[in-house]
Formats: sequence, structure tokens, C-alpha cells
Amino acid sequence: MLRRNTLKEKISIYQRRARILEPIAKHRKAYRQEVINYTEKFLENLAEDQAFKSGDGKKIYQYPFDEKAKDIKKILKIFKENVETPGLNSASGNYLAYIPGSSLYTAALGDFIADVINRVTCFYALAPGAVCLENKIIRWLSNLFRFPKSSAGNLTSDGSMANLIAMIAARDAYDVLQYEAKKIVIYLSEQTHHCIEKALHIIGLQHVTRHYVPLDSNFRIEVDTLANLIEQDKKNGLIPWMIVATAGTTNTGAIDPLSQLGDIAKKYHLWFHVDAAYGGFFVLTRHGKTLLRGIEKADSIVVDPHKGLFLPYGLGIVIVKQYKNLLRSFMREASYIKDSRFKTDELSPADLSPELSRPFRGLRMWLPLQVHGIAPFRAALEEKLLLTKYFVQEIKKIKGMELACEPQLSIVAFRYVNVAKNENVDVFNLSLQQRVKQEGKVYLSSTILRGHVYLRFACLSYRTHKNIVDELIKILKMMLKLDR
Ligand SMILES: *Cc1c(COP(=O)(O)O)cnc(C)c1O
Repeated sequence: MLRRNTLKEKISIYQRRARILEPIAKHRKAYRQEVINYTEKFLENLAEDQAFKSGDGKKIYQYPFDEKAKDIKKILKIFKENVETPGLNSASGNYLAYIPGSSLYTAALGDFIADVINRVTCFYALAPGAVCLENKIIRWLSNLFRFPKSSAGNLTSDGSMANLIAMIAARDAYDVLQYEAKKIVIYLSEQTHHCIEKALHIIGLQHVTRHYVPLDSNFRIEVDTLANLIEQDKKNGLIPWMIVATAGTTNTGAIDPLSQLGDIAKKYHLWFHVDAAYGGFFVLTRHGKTLLRGIEKADSIVVDPHKGLFLPYGLGIVIVKQYKNLLRSFMREASYIKDSRFKTDELSPADLSPELSRPFRGLRMWLPLQVHGIAPFRAALEEKLLLTKYFVQEIKKIKGMELACEPQLSIVAFRYVNVAKNENVDVFNLSLQQRVKQEGKVYLSSTILRGHVYLRFACLSYRTHKNIVDELIKILKMMLKLDR
């Protein structure tokens, strides 16, 4: 007669079945070796590889999650063909579109350690060293931007989340919700990143009045017009709330006149936010430091280490000048977290952002900065500025090429205007972007400025060097000739 398993026996059956989730050292090594082989191959081919490959990625739907284990080698092969291959290779130095990312290897290793040790970084009491490490990163940035000791910040998933946090802090600092939203005015520019518009919607302020301040010929906010606008709004019974400046716009890399905007914000008691997601880390260069003068007048700043510090995607940072403004918005109590708090002068990420359980994001930035030192980051950013100058110099040699404006950082918006009589300049430039994309080697994006199509050269990967800019120039020349 069959005997039913005892409780103890059942427990041990399931324990054995789940055992594979904790691979022994030998198996860990085998997995690791396969992953290392995979990533090494990727990196070895990277320089030669195309920036863009066609494919719809849909084949991955055909691979079910089975009850049974599969061989990692086979899985990685499927992954390579169907996930790594199609689309934009954003780890490539040939990626010159949007705002390029990179994939700093030591940051990936930092992520690996962080995931293996898996510290929960919500509260100082639970992971004191990890929280101090992240606070150290915030302090380092605060010093770079000459923010006072009273500042605090948060390591977020990206620039959009970082901007959202700043907008929430600005809303709560001015108690905006108690007013009729239409009376409240936010001053921005048509070049402000669209994540600010998304943030307004998310925080319930989709009905605030937006005043888009006119721009100068370099797409920067006109300060005098802004001052007049504010005066006018006050006379009309509106309530000026905040100014959003951009330090490095996505379209052209323009930096709004930060210092003067800061003075206006102070004069009229407005919140002053600087979105430096793209441009912020140029503060490490001489030229960038000069351009970013006045950023210290901000109430909140956003930077994106996964752009200007070359980290893999997954890290944005917000810094707010008065830490109390973050606590007001994000610190809340609950019975089940009481024992993870005690009196300390260290601020905890969970009290400064919407997140509770969050990855240990700091290590991916801390490790590269410690291992490599700051000098090579500075050098890579200087190189990007010079490569941009070089690109401009070369593009100006091509008859019919036109810039939207002189670049301030490492983005150039340009177009070709010497088209045939019966051809439309915008249509031509759109198709030029498409043809460069189809050729595959380098990848540019397009945009619209003053109502016309422009191509964008955005140089920010530490893997982008002069040979790639030369290749791009060669491709452009080839395409223009092919068209004649
Ligand atoms: C990239 C960027 C953002 C958005 O950041 P994500 O990290 O892509 O979410 C916001 N503002 C500016 C100026 C940017 O360049």
C-alpha cells in the first residue's frame, strides 16, 4: 500500500527540486564562462560592427518558458540572434543619434557585484555603507555644481524619473495644488525635454499655464523677454511658479543662460530647475565648466550618468539644494518600517524618492570612478568636444551643408540644402537620414528646427573617435554624390 509522504519528506523533495537555483561553485564557473565568452565576443566585434541592423525582434516570442532547464549556451545563441542583433547597437561608438549611451565595462562589473550581494538600499540602517556610498556620489556632484551642504539627491533609473522627482519637490515647495492650476505659470522653452511635460501630467498639473519663452538664434531662452513675461503675468493675476532651464538641449545641445535665469528666479521667488541630463558632466571639462556657470543658482539639477559618464542605461541623478524639499515630498511612515529607522544624520534614498526596494545603483558609478580615476572621464569628454569641432570644420567644407546654429557642446544639427530645383529640402534630408541608417555603419537621427528637417550628429560615447567621424563624413559625401 502506498504511504503518503510525511511533511518532512515533502519539504525535502521540493528543496531538492529547487536546488538548481543555487548553483555550486563548479556550475557558477560554467555559467560565468559562457557569459564571459558571450560578452568578450560582443566587445571584440564592436568596433567593426554596424550601428544599426534591421529585424523586428519578434522571433523571441517563439521560445516558451519550459518547466525543464535548458542549456545556457543554446539560450545565449538564441538571445544573440534575436535580441542583441536587431535594432540600434547603443553600445557602439558609431551610434551618433539621440543622446548616445555607452557601456562602461567596470560599471557592468559593479552591477554584477551589486546584484550578487543584493543590499537593499532603501534605509541607512539596513545598508549603511551602501547608502553612504550613494550619498558620497551626491556630495561629489554637489561640489562639482557648487551646491551647499544642505543639498541632497537621489540616484534614479534615468533622467526622466530624476526630472519627475524635481518637479514633485517644486510643486510641494510652493503648495501648487492649493491654487487653481490655470493661474500657476511654468516658464520653459520649446526646446525643453518632453519628460517635463510628462512630469506635469503625472503630478496632476497638466492644466498649469505654460509660457514658452522666445529663443535666441542659438535656441537659448531670451532672458529679457522672460522678465517681461513674468511682470506681465503678475499684473494679470497669474502666479509665477517655476523656471525650467536646460543645460544641453536634446536638439542642439544649447545651454540656457543659467546665471541670468537664476537671478530672475531669485528676484521673483520662483523655483529654478536645471535639466542638465545631457550636458551636466561637461562640467568636468574647462569649456563646459565655463558654460555651466550659474548652475549653482538652481534649486534642483538633473544629470544622467548613463549619458555623460558613459555608464550603461539605468542611472539618472537629481540633486535638490535644500534636502527638506525632498523629505517633504517623499518621507512617510509605516508600522512595518519603524525598526529600519533610527536617528542619524545620513539621509536614506527611500525618504527622497518614490521608491522603496530599489537596486544598489551607486556601485555602477562608484566603481568606475574609483578604478579609473576621474582623469580619463575628463579626457573622453574633452575629446567629444574636439571631435564636434572637427565634424563642424569638415561639414562646412561640403558645399550646400548648413548648420542650425553653432554647437555649444557635442551636438550638431545640420542639413543639406543644395538639392535639385524640383526637390524639397526637408524630404531630401529625411531620406538622407534613412539612407545613412540603411547603410548601417553609423546611425544619425533627425529632428525639426524652425519648421525644417535637420540631421543630428550627437557625439557622447567614449567609444566614438576621429576615425568614426571620418567614416561619417565619407558616408555623407558618398550619399550626396550618389544623388547627383
Ligand atoms: C536624455 C534627456 C532627458 C531624459 O533622460 P532619460 O535618461 O532618457 O530618461 C531629459 N532631459 C534631457 C535634456 C535629456 O537629454
